[in-house]
Amino acid sequence: MASQSDQQFMLSDEQEAIRTAVREFGEEEIAPVAREYDESHEYPWDVVEKAAEADLVGPMVPIEYGGAGMDVLETAIVTEELWRADPGIGAAIDLMAFNSTLHVMKEYGTEEQKEEWFPGIAAGEKSIAIGISEPAHGSDVASIETRAEKDGDEWVINGNKMWISNGSVGDAVLLVTKTDPDAGYDGISTILVPLDADGVTTSKIDNKLGLHASDTAEIVFDDVRVPAENIVGEENRGWQYFNEAMAPARVQVAAQAVGAAQAALDAAIEYANEREQFGQHIGDFQAIRHKLAEMATNVEAARSLTYRAAGLYDAGEVRLSERFASMAKLFASDRGFEVADEAVQVFGGAGYVTDHPVERYLRDVRVTKIYEGTNEIQKEIIGGRLLGQ
Ligand SMILES: Cc1cc2nc3c(=O)[nH]c(=O)nc-3n(C[C@H](O)[C@H](O)[C@H](O)COP(=O)(O)OP(=O)(O)OC[C@H]3O[C@@H](n4cnc5c(N)ncnc54)[C@H](O)[C@@H]3O)c2cc1C
Repeated sequence: MASQSDQQFMLSDEQEAIRTAVREFGEEEIAPVAREYDESHEYPWDVVEKAAEADLVGPMVPIEYGGAGMDVLETAIVTEELWRADPGIGAAIDLMAFNSTLHVMKEYGTEEQKEEWFPGIAAGEKSIAIGISEPAHGSDVASIETRAEKDGDEWVINGNKMWISNGSVGDAVLLVTKTDPDAGYDGISTILVPLDADGVTTSKIDNKLGLHASDTAEIVFDDVRVPAENIVGEENRGWQYFNEAMAPARVQVAAQAVGAAQAALDAAIEYANEREQFGQHIGDFQAIRHKLAEMATNVEAARSLTYRAAGLYDAGEVRLSERFASMAKLFASDRGFEVADEAVQVFGGAGYVTDHPVERYLRDVRVTKIYEGTNEIQKEIIGGRLLGQ
C-alpha cells in the first residue's frame, strides 16, 4: 500500500479521469485537423466550441459561474493533454481563458465583472486577452509606457501592446497599464478594455515560427475611453495582482511543454518501431534506443516538477510554489524543445517535412522558453529566491 508521501506523487482517480477525457477529446477532435489548421493559419473556432461543450475552456472558472472549478494541477493536466493532441490548437483553447487573467479577476474583480465575463468564458463565447508586453518593453515590465489617465468617470488610454494572444479574436483585453508613470511597479493598474471600443486597432501577427492555429496580435490604443469601473481591483496595485498569478500561469506553460514533448516522444517511438534500415527496425539500434530512453526520462522529470509546483500551489504553499513554478517552466520548456529536436532526428529526413507532426512540435514548443517570462528571467527568479531575496 502506498504511504502518504507516495500518494502525493500519484494522481487521484478523478485526476486520471480528467486526463482520459481530455485525451479522448484530443484524439477525436484535435489531432485529425491539426495539420490543416497549422497550414491555413485559421483560428479553430469549431474546435474551441466543442472544447467549451466538454468543459475544457477556462477549466478554472468557478462552478458558481458555470465553469468546471478545477485547481491548478487539474488545469495543468487539461493543458498537457490539449498540447499533446496539438500545441497550436491546444494553445487556441487554453488561451481563451488566461490563467493569470482569471486569477486576477477571481481574486480582485467585482461581482459585476465576474458575472459579466466568467459564464461567457466557460461557454467558449467570450475571451479576455492579457496585455502586458509592448514593442519596447517585454521583460522589463516596470518600464511599460501604455498610459491610462482619469478624465471624470472615465479612463483615457493611449499606448501600444505587442504579442497579445487572442488579441484579434478576443472580446476584451485585461490591460496592464501605467496609472502613475513615475512609480515603476507601484504605478501599474489592470483595466478591462473591450476590443471593439473606439480607438482600439488590432493587427494579427501572422508570421510566427509556430502555434499557427492560435491568434497573436499587436494592439494600438488611441484615446480609448472606458468607464472608471472597468478597473480590476485597486489603482496602482495591478503588478502585485499579476505577481500573485505568475506561479499558476507558469505551471500551465510547463504543462504545455510537457504535452508537446510527450507528443514528440510518442511519434518517435512509433516511427522507431516501423522504420527499417540495414534490415532491422531503427529502434533496434542502441543509438536510437538510448535517445528514446533519454527523451522519456526528460519528459517524466519535467512532468513531475510541473505537478509538484502545481501541488504546492494547490496546498497553499504559495511562496514556495513560485520558485517551483519557475523551475518547472525553465526545465520543461528547455527539455521539451530538446525532446522535440531529438524526435526530428529519429525521423531523419522525414522529420524535416510536414508529412509528420514532429517538425510542428519543434516549432510550436519553442515559444514556451519565451513567454510568461523568458527562461533567463526564470533563472533570475530562482537564483534570487535561493539567495533569500
Ligand atoms: C506567441 C507569443 C505569445 C505571447 N502572448 C503574450 C500575451 O498574451 N500577452 C503579453 O503581454 N505578452 C505575450 N507575449 C510576449 C512575451 O511575454 C514576451 O515576448 C517575453 O516576456 C519577452 O519579452 P521581449 O520579447 O520583449 O524580450 P526582451 O525582454 O527584449 O528580451 C530579449 C532577450 O534578453 C533577455 N533579457 C531581458 N532582460 C534580461 C535580464 N534582466 N536578465 C537576463 N536576460 C534578460 C531575455 O531573456 C531575452 O533572451 C507573447 C509572446 C509570444 C512570442
